[in-house]
Amino acid sequence: MRAVRALVAFAPPWVVALMFLAAPAGFLDLPAHAEPNAAIAKDARLAGDRERTRFIADLSKKVDVQVFALGNPYRVIVDAADVSFQMPQGIGKEPRGLVTAFRYGLFAPGKSRIVLDVSGPFLIDKSFVLEARDDQPARLVIDLVPTDEKTFQASLQKARQAAVEKASLPLPAAPVRPAAAKPIIVLDPGHGGVDPGTSSTNGVTEKEVVLQFAKELKKKLAATGRYEIYLTREDDTFLPLKDRVAFAQKKGAGLFLSIHADYFPTKIDDARGATVYTLSEQASDEEARELAAKENFSDAIAGVELPDDSDEVVANILIDLAQRETQNRSVVFARSIVGELAGKAALHTRRLRSAGFRVLKAPDVPSVLLELGFLSNAEDEKELTSERWRDRMTDSVTEAIDGYFAERIARMPF
Ligand SMILES: [Zn+2]
Repeated sequence: MRAVRALVAFAPPWVVALMFLAAPAGFLDLPAHAEPNAAIAKDARLAGDRERTRFIADLSKKVDVQVFALGNPYRVIVDAADVSFQMPQGIGKEPRGLVTAFRYGLFAPGKSRIVLDVSGPFLIDKSFVLEARDDQPARLVIDLVPTDEKTFQASLQKARQAAVEKASLPLPAAPVRPAAAKPIIVLDPGHGGVDPGTSSTNGVTEKEVVLQFAKELKKKLAATGRYEIYLTREDDTFLPLKDRVAFAQKKGAGLFLSIHADYFPTKIDDARGATVYTLSEQASDEEARELAAKENFSDAIAGVELPDDSDEVVANILIDLAQRETQNRSVVFARSIVGELAGKAALHTRRLRSAGFRVLKAPDVPSVLLELGFLSNAEDEKELTSERWRDRMTDSVTEAIDGYFAERIARMPF
């Protein structure tokens, strides 16, 4: 619970509503996803009270939707194929009845999602889509009523299987590689689609900043001719954490770099600068632990079923036994990044830290998470959105990757 509270403290509900607010001109580099035949969601609102809360979305035409509930935290998920969102700015942040907030976005290519946050145990009493009629647009209607925890859990049991199936994207089979193939690097821009990550007061979202950075870094790495590089996402699409890990494993990655931007309440500490994180069971410090909880919450934001506690325990034992060598390499790479950035870019005072990041848990792929800087800090925000900074920073990370692989090759037996 503490982790969830920490997240709420870091990312109040209005943050998610900022996801489609205007970013500085020319900064947005996200392709439009509107298919020619896509339905358009033009508006959405809440009605009713705590006894019965109604969610209504206006659509340009009738679409098929899947509506299901998730617990921990309480949420309603609405999935539909090809819905383009053209909602008014800032909606979804006003609580009403049982719903504390809602958000929307692309969940996977061609798949759109709306997530409602609910304040307590509930039942989906009704959900239907009405045809357009007379002067009324087509409408998605969902009615929620309160219930007790036991009844909620029983209803969840039914929804669970469907949700887990939806969460997994099919992954391509691992390619057979020639012996002298180039090292494979997987870059992982965090968040995306329905999960904007953190955001600045000006509405610059983490998901945009990290995607631009990853694309630029890919270009730089490709220009060396020494690597094969893949991005876990190429556009404004959400990807569950375990699929990011699986993507790196399937590609046979020699290195996995997850890219994020942080936010820290300036009232507590106007933190700034880049920080490099590796995986550890015991967090290096309290802030690192809270950050990992916040980043791990990505799946919950997007409405993905979270693994239960027993899965986590098993995962931790596996880390202990199988990951030691991978861990050592991760730390070597993390130090290499810090070494390159020192003197060239702003680094956080505690630049090398560790915690239980789910996205770093591939037992066979050295993995590092780079927080580029703080969107809560005005100077960092300026840099994170500047081309010059991106150019300098991606140069440094390329150098760090070069250094890491040069050392690896030098240590090989032949
Ligand atoms: Zn993040």
